[in-house]
Amino acid sequence: MIYNTLGKTGLKVSRLGFGTMRLPTKSDNSDIDKVEATKMLEYAIENGVNIIDTAYPYHAKGLEGSGESERFLGEFFSENSYRDDIILQTKSPVWAVEQKSDFDDFLDEQLEKLQTDYIDVYLLHSLTVPDWEKVKELDVFDFLDDALSSGKIRHVGFSSHIEVDYIVEIIDEYPKWEVALTQLNYLDEYYQSGVMGTNYLKEVNMGSMIMEPLRGGRLVNNIPKEIQELWDMAETKRTPVEWALQYLWNRDDVDCVFSGMTSLEQVKDNIRIASTEDLISDNDQELIREVARTYRTFLGNRCTRCGYCMPCPHGVDIINCLTEYNIAHMMGDPKASAMQYFSLIDDDSRADSCVDCRECIPFCTQMIDIPAELQKVYEYFGSEFDHF
Ligand code: SF4
Ligand code: SF4
Repeated sequence: MIYNTLGKTGLKVSRLGFGTMRLPTKSDNSDIDKVEATKMLEYAIENGVNIIDTAYPYHAKGLEGSGESERFLGEFFSENSYRDDIILQTKSPVWAVEQKSDFDDFLDEQLEKLQTDYIDVYLLHSLTVPDWEKVKELDVFDFLDDALSSGKIRHVGFSSHIEVDYIVEIIDEYPKWEVALTQLNYLDEYYQSGVMGTNYLKEVNMGSMIMEPLRGGRLVNNIPKEIQELWDMAETKRTPVEWALQYLWNRDDVDCVFSGMTSLEQVKDNIRIASTEDLISDNDQELIREVARTYRTFLGNRCTRCGYCMPCPHGVDIINCLTEYNIAHMMGDPKASAMQYFSLIDDDSRADSCVDCRECIPFCTQMIDIPAELQKVYEYFGSEFDHF
């Protein structure tokens, strides 16, 4: 295993982190296959993985609510002596916080579920712009200061899918941030905060952690013929998982990559890759860019995310509705895209909130008939998440 320093925390972290949002399950998403998941965690820890990520809602019955992932980890650590050697990371469900005391209530509940006195790294989970404004009004900095000084949490950060300008704003407003978890893979260099976000984290010496390195598995499953033909031209032959992970580990603004693993086979394969130094040549780096360009030719609409159509007077998040539809077409995985669509876009900002007033159309730089495209988005994803 190869280890990196996690920014100003000074923690030495395995460059592969174990994400626990896709553990193997039995009857439904909340019914973790504990025998199999235990084998996976034991193998990972025995082979050098020293950071594990979970969150309040992981493995809940729906997309929110109290999940089983934290509870399973609590049981796991109570049955062995690994806890003190592991960097345990979980996250505050900021969307569910309605008053200041809720921050403490959630943290105490999480400590109880995890059967521990402290959390090594505590993140505000999936900060959106409205949630960020809300938590500031609810004195989130006081809560974090107190949780740090009481020892309930040891390092603090946030995760987010928002654009780089907001990420910079969040970072600049609280000097105690030490880490951030953002989305990056070779397709998403300029989506969400992308590489500009990881560059900034490096600049301010914050730990840079990455989620969705395989885009929820979409960069490695059902590879289109056109993409495989490009990979076959590489100077060094790699599997799709190797391309996706080594792309990230060839960057000096990435400290740790979390992979949400579902089987022991995946754990073994990821650890093998994480333990191998693999310098990608300039030609193969160009090939990665060509693969990304080719994926983009499969888009469902022409939206460039320029933002000139926003804000919609009826609150529709036009950019992300069109983007998630694009990603669904590009990657051919409706279930994974639906998960993003319903978790990243608020209920009243999805495509079905469009009232066809047509006020946005004159502003579109790509001359897209936005309400017509939103209708396609609605027909594709529906109005509620029932894709489990
Ligand atoms: S047509 Fe739809 S998306 Fe465009 S401004 Fe009106 S409600 Fe918003
Ligand atoms: S103006 Fe057009 S291209 Fe730009 S974000 Fe809006 S829909 Fe997309």
